Amino acid sequence: WVGSRQRISIMARINDNYLKLKAGYLFPEIGRRVTAFTESQPDAAKKLIRCGIGDVTEPLPRAVRNAMHDAIDELGERETFRGYGPEQGYDFLRKAIAENCYRHRDIAIADDEIFVSDGSKCDTGNFLDILGPGNRIAITDPVYPVYVDTNVMIGNTGEADENGAYEGLVYLPCTADNNFVPAIPEEDVDLIYLCYPNNPTGAAATREQLAAWVEYAKAHQAIILYDAAYEAFISDPEVPHSIYEIPGAETCAVEFRSFSKNGGFTGVRCAFTVVPKVLMGMTASGESQALHPLWNRRMCTKFNSVSYPVQRGAEALFSDEGKAEVAELIAHYMGNAKLLSDACLEMGLSVFGGVNAPYIWVGCPQGIDSWGMFDKMLNEANVVITPGSGFGSAGEGYFRISAFNSRANVEEVCKRMQALGL
Ligand code: PLP
Repeated sequence: WVGSRQRISIMARINDNYLKLKAGYLFPEIGRRVTAFTESQPDAAKKLIRCGIGDVTEPLPRAVRNAMHDAIDELGERETFRGYGPEQGYDFLRKAIAENCYRHRDIAIADDEIFVSDGSKCDTGNFLDILGPGNRIAITDPVYPVYVDTNVMIGNTGEADENGAYEGLVYLPCTADNNFVPAIPEEDVDLIYLCYPNNPTGAAATREQLAAWVEYAKAHQAIILYDAAYEAFISDPEVPHSIYEIPGAETCAVEFRSFSKNGGFTGVRCAFTVVPKVLMGMTASGESQALHPLWNRRMCTKFNSVSYPVQRGAEALFSDEGKAEVAELIAHYMGNAKLLSDACLEMGLSVFGGVNAPYIWVGCPQGIDSWGMFDKMLNEANVVITPGSGFGSAGEGYFRISAFNSRANVEEVCKRMQALGL
């Protein structure tokens, strides 16, 4: 801390860590290439189909819309008007989440261990607020870029090397050899980001694999930051839906979940984070400290929760009608995943994912790298995919196709890919 009388500069200081960020989050670079394409080939651009970013395409479930309409009407009457809600989320939603996502699966999560938010993207980044400096942080490679960039922003890394790998992070390679679930590291790490079902590889982690990670975390007093944004897409009954299905995980894991992909809430915005009360970290002086009150404090100070109509909409996803509509949405997207996967297999490409996740992860044809494949698909098939290398150096040689699309678009993408004659 530099006191006000010891000014060290004549201008307001910025957070220099932002300058360490690579040319951009992957999607801006995709955006730049797509814009260049649409400007140079306006006719072809009219046929463009986007299978890049993982944004949902199908309309919001009726149960959600009805609940939101009703909630808005309540806000229109003096007797039922509500102003600020609880910072942690309304009790009705915390209870619906704890019961439906956890207690119905025999997982003992209490209502007040659920913190409602406006997105898992924000929560995974914001969670660093309550974690100290100096942690050894492990991330998978490839990875959802938000975990890396938020650590860079907060100063948990050094500079990036020429491959985009940041000094100070421990990269855990996820390859076809380990089924895209990282091996337990030999070294000591304090924080581990795991995302299953995985974006971008579409891989799911088995119970045994998650149990090995929980055992590691307990033995090393590490914390697992478990992102289960795609939990609803799991079709294999053996695959765990929550890290808390593994005994003891409540002592070493935070879980992030979102309504974005199951309920079509990417624009509506609602998610939640589970912070078990028995989960502990360590203070600078070496004492054990529960994380729950710290996250509670963080939310109370920096957040005023999600709007009442949105929380009522999220609650409606757990009604019988809502559950049936979610099941239909999932079946639609996973039907797309099957078509895309079959088309790639017929082309002789190696295909992963697409069974428990709405992403398929495809090996590039011989002699073409990830961005080469991106350009080929854009220019020759007029389809936007995501280059694997954008998710980390271990993603080189792969590309990701998102199954979030209309059926007609997916059928057209399959045809155009086959016409490429790879
Ligand atoms: N986590 C993962 C792994 C994602 O892929 C995404 C979105 O693509 C998110 C979180 C973002 O979720 P939300 O829309 O709740 O911010």
